[in-house]
Amino acid sequence: MQHPRLVSPGSFCWNQDCPDYGKVGHGNIIKFGRTQKGTQRYRCKTCSKTFVQTKGTVFYGRHHSQETILECLAWLAERSSLAAIHRVKGIKEETVLDWLKEAAKHVEEIEALLLANYHLTRAQLDALWTYVGHKGERGHLEEEERGTFWRGTIIDIDTRLRVGRAIGKEEGEVATALMAKLKARGHPDSPPAIASDGEGSYREAMVKTWGKAPKYAGRGRRPRRRQAQPDWHYLQVIKNRSGNRWKGITIKVVYGDPEEVLNLLGEHTAYVERTHLTSRQMNGRLVRKTLSFSKRREMLEASCAWEDWVYNLTRSVKTLRIEAGNGRGRWQPRSPAMAAGLTDHIWTVKELLMTVVAPDVTNTK
Ligand SMILES: [Zn+2]
Repeated sequence: MQHPRLVSPGSFCWNQDCPDYGKVGHGNIIKFGRTQKGTQRYRCKTCSKTFVQTKGTVFYGRHHSQETILECLAWLAERSSLAAIHRVKGIKEETVLDWLKEAAKHVEEIEALLLANYHLTRAQLDALWTYVGHKGERGHLEEEERGTFWRGTIIDIDTRLRVGRAIGKEEGEVATALMAKLKARGHPDSPPAIASDGEGSYREAMVKTWGKAPKYAGRGRRPRRRQAQPDWHYLQVIKNRSGNRWKGITIKVVYGDPEEVLNLLGEHTAYVERTHLTSRQMNGRLVRKTLSFSKRREMLEASCAWEDWVYNLTRSVKTLRIEAGNGRGRWQPRSPAMAAGLTDHIWTVKELLMTVVAPDVTNTK
């Protein structure tokens, strides 16, 4: 049930010039002792090249131990600040950020593989306000590389899987980037059914991404304006506030038959809001004032990528659990990735870091 190219680094030959390069389960790899530090070494019988078990992972060639790196990255996904990690473990913030950047690159490769053609039926989109460089105090000037940012998330309603994210200075920019993600993955021709709040320019972004100009009738000026299509489903959950007072919500069906849309999408955006709440808990204090400006946005992006895949693969979500047979009230916990059929078990953070994407080679033998 797991993708055949998601494997441990010791499963294939890493030598690109080898005839058996990248072939998984081909029988050419044998264990070949250990390094001084105790890391398993492997040898390819075909080309005689050797490599270690941490090849292609965040642990490769590091001065710190695997346990230390693993622990710090796990703490980052558990709401710990860089300052706290520094105090407890004595490791420099810069060092931990370096690991985080690698970890983000790593999970993005896994993401690209797993979500390449991910088709969803129903999506919730939302953007969360966050800050880079200062904590949103009044009086700070907006600058290109710091100040407030929007972090947008696409969540699959049926599996709670986070299937896309975008970070930007403007909500409109984020909305467009989220739609581009959907289009590039499982939705080249038309959007999935979407629920969002009333803000964030999602409607415009949908039209810009998938809209089509009407057919030319052969007379007059050729129509160029892109339009929404009849098979789209889009609903807005608009929150009414008067000052700080909560005044309830209004449901607005923007595209599609109202009854159909309501049946499909429900009347709330609770899932994505729930996931954003989790996000706040997971990495709210990560991005530090002490970093240089140019590093901050980069680090926010890295922490979001890391956090999304810790969430998708290693966290069980209570509402996703299924009864484990016998009707004796025993439940099998499931992660969003399990619910989405991308894996058959809840991963550990170590597994997430030690699983690499094998090269795309066709096994002919
Ligand atoms: Zn080889």
